[in-house]
Amino acid sequence: MKPILNKNDVEINIKKAKKILENGDLVIFPTETVYGLGGNAIDENAIKKIYKIKNRPSNNPLICHFKNIDSIEKDFVINDKSYELANQFWPGPLTLILEKKETSNISPILSNHKKFVACRIPKHPTAQKLLQNLEFPIAAPSANISTKLSSTRIIHLSKKLKDNIFLLDGGKSFYGLESTIINACNGNPKILRLGSITLEVIEKIIPNIILENHSNFSNLSPGQQIKHYSPNLPLRINANSVLKDEALLNFGTNNLKSEIMELNLSTSGNLEEAGKNLYDFLHILDNSQSIGIAVAPVPDHNLGKTINDRLTRASKS
Ligand code: AMP
Ligand code: MG
Repeated sequence: MKPILNKNDVEINIKKAKKILENGDLVIFPTETVYGLGGNAIDENAIKKIYKIKNRPSNNPLICHFKNIDSIEKDFVINDKSYELANQFWPGPLTLILEKKETSNISPILSNHKKFVACRIPKHPTAQKLLQNLEFPIAAPSANISTKLSSTRIIHLSKKLKDNIFLLDGGKSFYGLESTIINACNGNPKILRLGSITLEVIEKIIPNIILENHSNFSNLSPGQQIKHYSPNLPLRINANSVLKDEALLNFGTNNLKSEIMELNLSTSGNLEEAGKNLYDFLHILDNSQSIGIAVAPVPDHNLGKTINDRLTRASKS
């Protein structure tokens, strides 16, 4: 069995990660949402490496991770509405789109040369510690190959990433779903991507928040592409029966059964538990000897909305 890291090992690994990032190379690190694939946000070559190894289209911008709000304010304008959200949810699973100042040295290719950049302060102690040790922010998308399933545990990482990039193991991600992305820069604040913070919770702070409608999946920014977060096997959502040779991703109690393999996101119907298990279970079922994955209906409220968003995208071929 792999020995559990003691405090000293963590310190040593953070120091290693710091050196690697300072040298313009990449590091996989844990956050409370999913694992991130990080590079120095002011180093153009490091950012190019992220796009290359992920096969990510260069017009799909990255999220920039900061240690605290002071370091964000050096580079970005934060208006009142954004402040309100930042005060409530940072550090945590919120990403805010903010306007970059002319004086910023954050690489333009991180945001496809746009001045509106996605920013976040993660809460995970390892991510925090790493950022506290650095003089620059970390550009980091999820640590997966583009369009594939996100990683919420080290074992989910693709061989290509695991074999080539130094990694900090932070155990299983706390939320297991990506951050909620909000643009409150101008006009009515909008949720661009549902995530670990639900619409219902955000509505308590900004009652008129708009959930960007992706229902027809047209006109999407690259990261909101229709096919995303996908297993290799075909996924069939809202299934009310399971086909022969299909695996089953179940939710709650019902009569669904698979002869191949089945996992239940939450037998008690708890959406937080389901969120934590979603990618983990999809990774496991994706490796089963089945022809596809049938997914039971998940209630479309609170975190269920985020889970359904991911499942819908994962089901597109
Ligand atoms: P990932 O890094 O894999 O979690 O994906 C980041 C998500 O943030 C993608 O859906 C991007 O399209 C989105 N994103 C990043 N930067 C911006 C931005 N400046 N404006 C709008 N969306 C963004
Ligand atoms: Mg991603």
